[in-house]
Amino acid sequence: MIGKKKQNTWLNYANPSLSNIQPYEPGKPESQLIRELNLSTQQIVKLNSNESLWEAAPAIKHHLSNIQNIHSYPDGNGFELKQTIAKLHNISPQHITLGNGSNDILELIARAFLCPNTSAIYAQHSFIVYHLVTLTQQARGIKVPASNYGHNLTAMLQAIEKETKIIFIANPNNPTGTFIPYEQIKDFLKAVPKHILVVLDEAYYDYLPKKEQEDSIAWLEEFANLIIVRTLSKIYGLASLRLGYALSHPDLSDLFNRVRPPFNTNTIAQECGVIALQEQDFIQEVATQTLIQKTRLESEFNKLNIRYIPSLGNFLCTEFADAPYIHQKLSEHGILVRPIGGYELPNHLRITVGQERDNKRLLKILEQLL
Ligand SMILES: *Cc1c(COP(=O)(O)O)cnc(C)c1O
Repeated sequence: MIGKKKQNTWLNYANPSLSNIQPYEPGKPESQLIRELNLSTQQIVKLNSNESLWEAAPAIKHHLSNIQNIHSYPDGNGFELKQTIAKLHNISPQHITLGNGSNDILELIARAFLCPNTSAIYAQHSFIVYHLVTLTQQARGIKVPASNYGHNLTAMLQAIEKETKIIFIANPNNPTGTFIPYEQIKDFLKAVPKHILVVLDEAYYDYLPKKEQEDSIAWLEEFANLIIVRTLSKIYGLASLRLGYALSHPDLSDLFNRVRPPFNTNTIAQECGVIALQEQDFIQEVATQTLIQKTRLESEFNKLNIRYIPSLGNFLCTEFADAPYIHQKLSEHGILVRPIGGYELPNHLRITVGQERDNKRLLKILEQLL
């Protein structure tokens, strides 16, 4: 809290970009809510960070009770995990960069390419981390107005300037859930100059219905400037362990590895990642269940006249006349959802799709409030 109201005395001496940056505001952790509201764990429904309410595959819990060797440094190159990722995506390990969450990956990309007098392009209402990593590098962020809450690829192409190094695209987008069909992404890639990196952040890829999925990883052969970013924080249920990865041309992964801290992914994350990525039946089942619950939520929202943006993620971006009030009242009942005023959507709340019991509790309170 200190430093929020009062000017920070170090600011004049720090990296000049820091005066334009505020700390990332995550969804409140459960422990904080328990402290603030005097609620018990059982009373909390956490729908504010797009984590999987189905948790991780049972094999992960089993492994965690058998963790060995925490006194040793991790494998800095993540050999086993890279083997698993390579096999899953039918790609060789040189294409892979491991990150302490995909957030870390976004930072490595920015560190490798952005500096003063360069720029990065991203969409309005898109993942805030693109903006943060750009500013931290003292580069300029070009925020392109959204169209219908989603990316306007035509406008993003037009926004390219001589200094542009990176274009960030989240597909599906967080926090809006909007989705760009893959044919359009491909046309976009063909139109972007070859020396500009296109970061395709596919944090919610496994939630896509099969008919919308595309083997975008196979496109790496054709587009040497494409970087695909994936995370194990969402459908894989490992958000607390922090694990993500990038797939790119080996010349790019070489550069990312030059700026990567030596042991950025820890042993437990690497080992659990290996297991989680192999539990594809479990992932498929979570995707199916999430879709069933999302469809139910949509029909209940319709009945309650709650507007929402069509979403292909595991969340719905809902609109209210007075979102801060709804957010406050839901919190008082232990239902955590995410206000997204920081994304220029002050009257929207992003709600993660939970299991049936979670959604029922949410709907019950919403019914009372509206
Ligand atoms: C959640 C999310 C991430 C994942 O962040 P991690 O650091 O891997 O937990 C990345 N990009 C988008 C668009 C997200 O919504």
